[in-house]
Amino acid sequence: MKIAKTITEARTWIAQLKEERRNLGADPKIGFVPTMGYLHEGHASLLRRSRQESGISVLSIFVNPIQFGANEDLDRYPRSEEADLQLAEREGVDLVFMPSVDEMYPEERKTTVTVTGVTERLCGASRPGHFDGVATVVSKLFNIVKPDQAFFGAKDAQQVAVLQKMVNDLNMDVKIVPCPIVREEDGLALSSRNVYLSEDERREALVLSRSLQTAEAKIQQEADATPAEIVSEVTATIEASPLAVIDYVELLTFPNLKPLDDDQTMKSLRLSEQSIILAVAVKFGSTRLIDNHIMKLKEVPLHV
Ligand code: AMP
Repeated sequence: MKIAKTITEARTWIAQLKEERRNLGADPKIGFVPTMGYLHEGHASLLRRSRQESGISVLSIFVNPIQFGANEDLDRYPRSEEADLQLAEREGVDLVFMPSVDEMYPEERKTTVTVTGVTERLCGASRPGHFDGVATVVSKLFNIVKPDQAFFGAKDAQQVAVLQKMVNDLNMDVKIVPCPIVREEDGLALSSRNVYLSEDERREALVLSRSLQTAEAKIQQEADATPAEIVSEVTATIEASPLAVIDYVELLTFPNLKPLDDDQTMKSLRLSEQSIILAVAVKFGSTRLIDNHIMKLKEVPLHV
């Protein structure tokens, strides 16, 4: 496994890996998994997909300062270089790109990639500037790594929607591949930030996956349920946890992330074959967790 700390090194190694694959008559396609490190099984699942579906598998580890707001956790974001490299090696990564902040942003930046529309709600609304930071760094990383496909977790569903829009709008020659959310056995979505949770917060954090699961059952089974009813039920379930402070609970179309009309019942959504997303962001102390379910409404027998 090669490790590149500079952009020049990354480009050189990638050219060399491609050349080696071509000489072997093997697949020279690049699969790419961008991360901020402190890797867990969720990241590992993306690396596995990348390994299975591409001849060359590239991982980046970069805690991108421009996607953090002034009062967010940039300074205490967890890091574990050695463990990350071990996990990468285990998952068959060919190249790890781990640049410094100075390498990525050597001078005052005058270019920002802004995706509008899909960034208006959810984390786009509660973390102003966050998706500008994400779209800008991912564009830079795509220009450095030149991947054929890039793998992203549905845990950050809005990020997937934003990047899909960016790639389409700017004709970037890369396929965005969304991958399922990996959870702990008890349902908590894996996140590098779970390490911040106290024992009590960790126990209460289960309310996210639990409330989403109950709501999904209602959405799939109750034809007359309205978006407002679903949202208020999830809100009430989360509010019953004393340590939880809700940032948002929203039911939107996916991937356009538009609000649903209150007169749209689950039955009418089913007929329109619209995919929807139920997304939550909740703070436990200073730790902000997100989770979501994306659903394609299925035709269900209504006599149950
Ligand atoms: P991060 O290091 O948090 O920026 O995440 C890097 C990538 O891993 C993003 O595409 C995330 O969506 C993905 N990811 C993080 N947690 C999970 C998870 N629990 N399941 C699947 N993918 C995840």
